[in-house]
Amino acid sequence: MKKIVTILGARPQFIKGAVLSRVIKKHNKIEEVIVHTGQHFDANMSQVFFDEMQIPQPKYNLAINGLNHGAMTGQMLEKIEKILMDEKPDAVVVYGDTNSTIAGALAAKKLHIKVVHIEAGLRSFNMKMPEEVNRILTDRISDLLVCPTDKAVSNLQDEGFNDFSIKIEKHGDIMKDAMDFYSKLSEEKSNIIQDLALTKNQFVLATIHRQENTDFENNLKEIFAALDEIHEKLTVVLPLHPRTKKMLDQFNIRTNIKLIDPVGYFDMINLLKNCKMVLTDSGGLQKEAFFNKKHCVIIREETEWIELVNEGFAKLTGANKSKIITVFKEFIHTTKNFNVDLYGTDVGEKIYTSIKQLIQ
Ligand code: UDP
Repeated sequence: MKKIVTILGARPQFIKGAVLSRVIKKHNKIEEVIVHTGQHFDANMSQVFFDEMQIPQPKYNLAINGLNHGAMTGQMLEKIEKILMDEKPDAVVVYGDTNSTIAGALAAKKLHIKVVHIEAGLRSFNMKMPEEVNRILTDRISDLLVCPTDKAVSNLQDEGFNDFSIKIEKHGDIMKDAMDFYSKLSEEKSNIIQDLALTKNQFVLATIHRQENTDFENNLKEIFAALDEIHEKLTVVLPLHPRTKKMLDQFNIRTNIKLIDPVGYFDMINLLKNCKMVLTDSGGLQKEAFFNKKHCVIIREETEWIELVNEGFAKLTGANKSKIITVFKEFIHTTKNFNVDLYGTDVGEKIYTSIKQLIQ
């Protein structure tokens, strides 16, 4: 039986990985060994997703976290290399743009093991983002690049990838599959709307965790000042990422909005279904807002999911209080036809077929 090693480490990777693991298990033709780097480790940032989405338990847990980027990536590289030398897989699968992504890809490439990058070709064109550095380097050393959108493919073409011996395929966004699969189940399993005493369309859902927002006092202050003002009109519910919690404390920023602990995927889906609008700097949540027919205020200067902005479903504001409030007010009165296919269907099956072809 052919074998792949999957590298997971951060919350969005558990959600993406769950889709492919389920397809792999169903076909029973490829053995999957999961490595959890430990980048996200709190139970509500990690284990809850393994439980809810029935992701196979990792064979290896590296417990690497809480370090600066260099130390974290370096330690992961060393430990993943050792695992790959023992496991001798036919390919390594990495997702997205975290330190776990680049560490997994680099360890595999140096051992001449094929690298599959899922969510390839995305660009923010902001090289100050650690994610941008990770994704560009990972794309260049991969053997199979699985792109979610046409823009991702054209980004790679613009960077000359057609001249490299790297397979580029567009299959759509794997997170769309996750939403399609778990949406109904989440209605049965989650009581968050009742537990938080929320009313449909009477609250907005917010998340903030990008380093460029959390680590700069002025940016974080502007964002929470905007959220506080919005909260006076419509309840703002914000599942608080550990990094944001730490930085709010550090900068001594107080807020009146409804802060809650990070939630599991089922709760998140129900919050998305019932909210009026989404305000976020998350990559994944921008699309999940669209999947659930909600407008999204993107609290960033740029987005990798530019089709959402081009089609008028989302708008960029940066960490700017007055822009955030202006776009919020605009979207309160807007209804758009969300029945546009931007992200495909059956993405997991398509990716599975491509991986099988790569390693056969
Ligand atoms: N998410 C979740 N609970 C939370 C916050 C986010 O389940 O409290 C999910 C969200 O629905 C999405 C993914 O985590 O599927 C996005 O992760 P995150 O925003 O951390 O990372 P990004 O997408 O920005 O890389």
